[in-house]
Amino acid sequence: AFTDAVFHYAVEQSAIAISITDENATILYVNPAFCTITGYAADEVVGRNQSLLSYKSTPKAVYQELWSALNRGRSWTGRLLNRRKDGRPYVAELTVTPLHTPEQGDGGTHYLGMHWDATEEH
Ligand code: FAD
Repeated sequence: AFTDAVFHYAVEQSAIAISITDENATILYVNPAFCTITGYAADEVVGRNQSLLSYKSTPKAVYQELWSALNRGRSWTGRLLNRRKDGRPYVAELTVTPLHTPEQGDGGTHYLGMHWDATEEH
């Protein structure tokens, strides 16, 4: 049967890195694939900003595009240079999406991030 538990396992076992943040991009949840790709344990990143993954070499304009899409209620897909915990860079193909969580009212703004390591792609 398809239950909420199956839905939960799907997120937990997804091969794509998944994170859920608040409206300031502070991390609230990461799945195991996020930990595998980034090298961080969940308790090392929960409470920190998603910008901890930035390699600080992606042009500001890319982040401005990302945030202007989110602020208009749209999702955004693009490539960023991310940094693993050990300092190694990787190309992240990232999709961010504003989450509509009606039962939380106005205080319920969350973002969903999904990324994978596109370094080896050509
Ligand atoms: P910042 O000072 O955060 O921002 C750079 C520019 O982006 C600013 O000049 C500003 O124009 C714009 N900006 C930033 N925050 C806002 C805001 N709240 N509203 C409007 N405009 C804003 N970044 C990564 O590098 N790698 C990731 O994997 C990644 N995943 C993300 C996943 C999710 C779900 C979300 C919501 C964000 C993610 N980000 C990711 C973006 C991250 O939060 C930072 O904005 C980004 O890393 C740039 O950080 P910074 O400190 O260098 O610059």
